Amino acid sequence: MSNDGAEGACVVQAKADGFPAGLLTPKESAAARGLGARNFEDLVRVPPRRYAAPGPLRDLRYLNEGEDISVIATVERTRERSMKNRKGTLLDVRVRDDEGESLSLTFFLFKAHLVTWHMSRLREGTRVLVSGTVSRYRGENQIAHPDYLLLADNPSAHEARDIEKALEPAPVYPLRGSVTQKVMRSLFSKVLRHASDLREVVPEAIRHERDLPGIQEAARLLHAPRNSADIERALRYFRFEEAFIIQSIFARRRAQDVADSAPPLATYGDLSRALDERLPFDLTPSQEEVGDQIAERIAEPHPTSLLLQGDVGSGKTVVALRAMARAVDSGYQAVLLAPTEVLARQHFATITTMLGDLARHGHLDAHEAATRVRLLVGAQKASERRESLLDLMNGEAGIAVGTHALLTENVDFLKLGLVIIDEQHRFGVDHRRQLRSKGPGHLRPHMLVMTATPIPRSAALALVGDLDSLTLKGRPHEGAAVSSYVVPLGDDAWRERMWERALEEIRAGRQAFVVCPRIDLDETGEGGEESALVDMSAPITHPPETPQPLHAVTGTLETLRAQPGFSSLRIEELHGRLPSDVKRERMEAFAAGEIDILVATTVIEVGVDVPNASVMVVLDAERFGLAQLHQLRGRIGRGTHPGIAFFATQFGRGSAQHEGLTELAETTDGFALAELDLERRGGGDLVGDIQSGTSVAVRFLDVGRDARMILEAREDALVTEALARGSLTSSSLTPPTPSEHDALDSAIARHSARGVDDLERS
Ligand code: ADP
Ligand code: MG
Repeated sequence: MSNDGAEGACVVQAKADGFPAGLLTPKESAAARGLGARNFEDLVRVPPRRYAAPGPLRDLRYLNEGEDISVIATVERTRERSMKNRKGTLLDVRVRDDEGESLSLTFFLFKAHLVTWHMSRLREGTRVLVSGTVSRYRGENQIAHPDYLLLADNPSAHEARDIEKALEPAPVYPLRGSVTQKVMRSLFSKVLRHASDLREVVPEAIRHERDLPGIQEAARLLHAPRNSADIERALRYFRFEEAFIIQSIFARRRAQDVADSAPPLATYGDLSRALDERLPFDLTPSQEEVGDQIAERIAEPHPTSLLLQGDVGSGKTVVALRAMARAVDSGYQAVLLAPTEVLARQHFATITTMLGDLARHGHLDAHEAATRVRLLVGAQKASERRESLLDLMNGEAGIAVGTHALLTENVDFLKLGLVIIDEQHRFGVDHRRQLRSKGPGHLRPHMLVMTATPIPRSAALALVGDLDSLTLKGRPHEGAAVSSYVVPLGDDAWRERMWERALEEIRAGRQAFVVCPRIDLDETGEGGEESALVDMSAPITHPPETPQPLHAVTGTLETLRAQPGFSSLRIEELHGRLPSDVKRERMEAFAAGEIDILVATTVIEVGVDVPNASVMVVLDAERFGLAQLHQLRGRIGRGTHPGIAFFATQFGRGSAQHEGLTELAETTDGFALAELDLERRGGGDLVGDIQSGTSVAVRFLDVGRDARMILEAREDALVTEALARGSLTSSSLTPPTPSEHDALDSAIARHSARGVDDLERS
């Protein structure tokens, strides 16, 4: 608790400091606000979206189409032509270099004053430095819309400097609203003028060891680089700094966990024993092992923070339930939180069924070791909710299951000892903290976060490095495997066969999911949308241009209903915009076998368990991440019938999209897929998935590319924290000075504030 409190206080401070009065013009202030920056410290850490780098100086022989070049040449003539079929003017300027080779510069202009302006500058005989991309037109080299710099008639030393300057890479910043690049550049030139006020976040000893520049130099290299080596060095600094801040946050949380007290949940008592006796299956060796590891950790008198990773269907629920039974046996309460109401209700049903009369405390037919299990979700009858709240407050209920309604509302536990979060990546940052404050007295509950999105090791360290990771291996149900196929939608035979196959399953009494990337045609979907992260190393990549509009739930529903063979089927839709009681009814109806085909968005992705569902058709499958698709197909093949997953795409064979889906179809191991996803797409998407469950905001780092640097930063942060606390005395590093420590404090506060901001904006 004390940890969270301290972070909170720092956030307020960071919000307050701002820019020196009168320094920024109103436009610059607006630009800074648009970037979410409250001061120079924030601003200096805004990476340019990219750099506009003029091509190298060349002469005009041997140019290739598509090359970026710069050239010094003299204007030979200018010609103005009105355009035949369009409005506007074509300005054609012919220049010639010292070798006598010529090039034509073309401008398409719609405003007369611009024509006049260019003509007045590009007079015959004027020397210019021209930059742009070479194209060929009627056998001649040309550059359309070149950048140009006017030079004096005769070269001078002064001019050499000007040319050098003009050829430097120019940062291009993200723009919001009506802010222009020019305002951005003037804003950042002010940042650099005040760079000496910036504080060093990475202690000197570490910078020395890791060969990193100081913040002042790094700022200059990032925002006013002379060449690409400068940019590289700047990025190295800012990536490390970001990793170091994040790892320092983790190091402090861990140190705080050690300092705080938690209830030792050490009792394997009557409830646990009775539960184990009545489990309808034998636990797998991995479930046993992970169960022991959890038991060991929650028996400690300090709050433990665990991440349980286990592929879809690996059997996490029973592991969670056994841990909760220990909490109850030890005299405490446990809560299980799910990201959606559907899932919370399902967990509630599973748990009460597994417990049977062990969940019927207070009833005549209760087992003598029984406790009470309570559900708490958003849409719930007021009376039911009141009872739940009361039972949690007076301790009658040992186990609570719910959505985050459980957190945001006024919920009090008598003795909360264990918090379990299922599918944590869907949770916002504050939830974890809020729950941790709900322990009795000064005690903080233990926490177990479960995820079916496997996080490769490097990424886990980068993003959830405050949690210790346990892994549940294998699947108890090896029998009902899922076979996956990639279906090119452009191929009629394939497409028809896919729907035919789905029909066969339904005729055999089973059910199908059809997943679409969006709800209706003019709406964006619920899954797989772009994150706002900027990858500095790569050119900005956009989602592929899809030739056809993406499939939407509503349209697909109608198309299917109209299709011959489908008309007698019960087909319904499910997505996030439906009222929550409708969503629940649909899901229940589907689970009860009253719906044959559920056309849905990714709301069905997480945890939903309908053993009779055996087919899944994912339309525009390339729109989803591999890990997400793997999650989706985990919804089928959960019963005794083998599952069939179709990943349908408009991209044909040979395209990268098709290839990626094929790899997915051929791989069944979720962890291998996560590594593959990370390799193929970089860390951005993964970060987007996980980020909302963490308080870390990642701007410079790529958890795939920067794995090694993250490890180095982690080591340095742990040592620094230990040195600062005095728990480590000898190291190659020196303890941070008070001012270094203070600077790191502020950096952590800024980072946390930014993490919250980024989330609120996303
Ligand atoms: P997930 O890890 O995806 O949350 P679940 O906990 O929902 O997986 O388990 C998937 C299915 O496997 C459930 O129907 C569950 O009852 C069943 N199951 C779990 N453990 C075992 C086991 N040891 N043997 C047989 N079935 C099991
Ligand atoms: Mg689950």
